[in-house]
Amino acid sequence: MAPVPPWILYVDMDAFYVSCELADHPELRGRPVIVGQEPTDRPTRAVVLSASYEARPFGVHSAQPVHEAARRCPDAVWIPPDFEKYERRSQEVMSWLEKRFGSVLPQSIDEAMVTVAAPDTRVLAEVAHGAQSDLAHDLGLPSSWGGAPSGVVAKIASDVAKPNGVRIVDGSQIAEFLAPMSVRAIPGIGPKSAERLARLGIVTIADLGGRRRREIRELLGAWGADLVDLARGTIPPFRDAPVSGPVSRSVDRTFPVDEGALPALEASVRELARDLHRSVTKEGLRFGAVGIGLRWSDFQRTQRVRALPGSTSSLDALETAAIRLVRELYGEEHRGLGRDVRTVTVRVERLARESGRQARLDRYVEVGPDPHDGPE
Ligand SMILES: [Mg+2]
Repeated sequence: MAPVPPWILYVDMDAFYVSCELADHPELRGRPVIVGQEPTDRPTRAVVLSASYEARPFGVHSAQPVHEAARRCPDAVWIPPDFEKYERRSQEVMSWLEKRFGSVLPQSIDEAMVTVAAPDTRVLAEVAHGAQSDLAHDLGLPSSWGGAPSGVVAKIASDVAKPNGVRIVDGSQIAEFLAPMSVRAIPGIGPKSAERLARLGIVTIADLGGRRRREIRELLGAWGADLVDLARGTIPPFRDAPVSGPVSRSVDRTFPVDEGALPALEASVRELARDLHRSVTKEGLRFGAVGIGLRWSDFQRTQRVRALPGSTSSLDALETAAIRLVRELYGEEHRGLGRDVRTVTVRVERLARESGRQARLDRYVEVGPDPHDGPE
């Protein structure tokens, strides 16, 4: 029997916090719903945590200041966040995926990768559609699915599939699929990398694929060459050297006076990210996940780690992920509980040596269940 190729399916739950609430309050379906602290007359830095697809045409989106969202969509139904519920539902999703596919690689509270052995894209699409509809039936939660022979391409495909869609990209279609997209569609390319690329006239992924690998490597570091390969549709094999010793690195700062202002926290996170980046790159390490920890004035701790779709040494990827995480944690915890921050920690995980040149984008492609355990 010919071996069946392994595929990655990337699952991203649609408007996850909102969907968790709608599962409990079906009477709100079809209405613009926002999860976040409804603004009052008092000034606040609270932000929208999740907006239903009915709210989005009004210009409401997550991470938007709540006052702005309320102005754009005065009829929205506001629901205060219930993070225990979202964590619980996230675990249900991950267990469901694990049962269905044999193993699961969670990427965030509402995103995960699974591997599937399928002979072709038609079968893969059937597998994805079947899982999407069974997941919605069993857990009452909508999701979008991207499928590709590469994790990062599958993730981008899941973004394109939103909401409630499936997008499969065959190995031979990768370059064509990515070509018209902005370089920002690539996870890990933040505003700074995008700006540096734009100065060279590189705006779309097609522009990136037309450049020499060396040129982009000089601009963005070793990761840059992988980006050119990706833009050309090449999927490099996984060859990262394992790292002995501690599996993560972190730096932290304790404020002399507990800090309650997000801009000050962000400034500290940026500085810490730069320090941490300097030390890990000096060690010749790349990282595949970024974490933020906050210790609050009541000495409780909150932390969250987010996997990057590949291993990188990009400062921009580190800083972008860290800032996003601190905004999330702050938005969820400070506003609700009125606590200030005593200590902030920035962490990198999934360390790998720079020497393994290839496959930093696709290190997960070879992880997964035995092909014969596929979900036929
Ligand atoms: Mg999502």
